Amino acid sequence: MHKKLLEQVYKTSDFNSNGHLLIDQLTSHLEDKLNASSRNAINWNEPEKELLFWKYFLINGNEKDLFQEITKHTTYIHHPHYLGHQVSPPAPITALTGVISSLLNNGTAVYEMGMASNAIERIIIELICTKIGFNESSGGFLTSGGTLANLTALLSARKAISKKDIWNEGNQNQLGIMVSEEAHYCVDRAARIMGLGDQGIIKVPVTSEFRMDTSLLESKFEEAEAKGIEIFAIIGSAPSTATGIFDDLEAIGFFAKKRKIWFHVDGAHGGAGIFSKKYRHTLNGIDIADSVVIDGHKMMMMPALTTALLYKNEVNAKATFRQKADYLLSDSEHEDWYNSGKRTFECTKNMMSIHWFTLLKLYGEEVFDANVTQLYDLGAVFANLIEKEPNFEVALKPMSNIVCFRYLEPGMSTEHLNELNVKIRQALLEDGEFYIVQTKLKGVHYMRITVMNPFTNLQHFKALIEKIKLIKSTI
Ligand SMILES: *Cc1c(COP(=O)(O)O)cnc(C)c1O
Repeated sequence: MHKKLLEQVYKTSDFNSNGHLLIDQLTSHLEDKLNASSRNAINWNEPEKELLFWKYFLINGNEKDLFQEITKHTTYIHHPHYLGHQVSPPAPITALTGVISSLLNNGTAVYEMGMASNAIERIIIELICTKIGFNESSGGFLTSGGTLANLTALLSARKAISKKDIWNEGNQNQLGIMVSEEAHYCVDRAARIMGLGDQGIIKVPVTSEFRMDTSLLESKFEEAEAKGIEIFAIIGSAPSTATGIFDDLEAIGFFAKKRKIWFHVDGAHGGAGIFSKKYRHTLNGIDIADSVVIDGHKMMMMPALTTALLYKNEVNAKATFRQKADYLLSDSEHEDWYNSGKRTFECTKNMMSIHWFTLLKLYGEEVFDANVTQLYDLGAVFANLIEKEPNFEVALKPMSNIVCFRYLEPGMSTEHLNELNVKIRQALLEDGEFYIVQTKLKGVHYMRITVMNPFTNLQHFKALIEKIKLIKSTI
């Protein structure tokens, strides 16, 4: 009985027929969305209704409809009206590399469980390090997401900088990090996981342009030091998620060197700019960083999750986790780049390097330049349109493909404008023709777009603005 069931699961003819069917379905999906043949970027459904749908489907649904229904009940990242969170519409070929990774399922942590993926990973890491401007002492690895990569980098920083051996002796002193008040929440979370608490997260205010105010670094540092806090790292955002604004990495790096603390660049979103000739300047100073995070699944057309964590000095990557797992990893003096599990949080890890490698092999590194440059250009196109509209304003002149803006009504208080903009965004969501998100900056509510699709164009932006006007007229 069990044997029969298992034989059914592994039936290769089913794999083949399901596979062909699925590729056909997904191809139509792609054609439909990329060409905006279907109206909506999202078919919004209330969470409770969605839950009921799937409960019902598990019992009564036709299995033939399963993949189709999953596709229908998602947000259409490939639709040019998708202007929401910073997730890439994956290059279709990387969906196929995803299939390879899933089927071969080599765990990658040790060389024997991922020969190709480990060797390929090293090639990718070397390329990115060179692009950053690091020398031969550099290194790194791929890991599951910017959140995990930021935590890992801060653990490396603590190991390298703190005077105490915290990994073995536990946390005795109050340690701290410095970070912009606009940094991604995962940095705050990482600090709390490390036991730093409120006290250990030194928030540096931003300037009116929403960059970390580097004129305050010395005084903030001294204030913390006077309280007995041992600061071991400072984080620069490249850019900050909410605003898309880049911190001044050169100034932060200079400060970090002077104070002999670790300089980490959270380039989860914009680190890919190292490939863009036009926008490389947004990352000036990145080469002084001790560590850098770059997400492949944001600006680099790959499926989630795949993140590069790069170190100026590879020794620091190797030192982070001195936990013994001798049955897996023989302790060798010589360099063992091919056992990536020694350096990563993960034990088992996706064969994520093959996404990067396949894009490089098929299209060359220019493809990353093309994508980042096009998307950042489109951010400026949208902001220019908004600036011409009397009843709209941008929060900030964009430095990337993230633009915060709001609807304005003359004479209306901030509070009422906030309410109005919340209502407009909610109505947009429920309507579904466009998908955009929102954020609050210093108490002011903004709608927020991230242009992730290189085929979004001026006409789509104009249609969005007209849509917002229409919605406004009905509120
Ligand atoms: C998206 C983002 C993160 C989180 O990365 P995940 O890959 O979603 O875990 C961290 N920092 C910044 C600046 C980001 O934009």
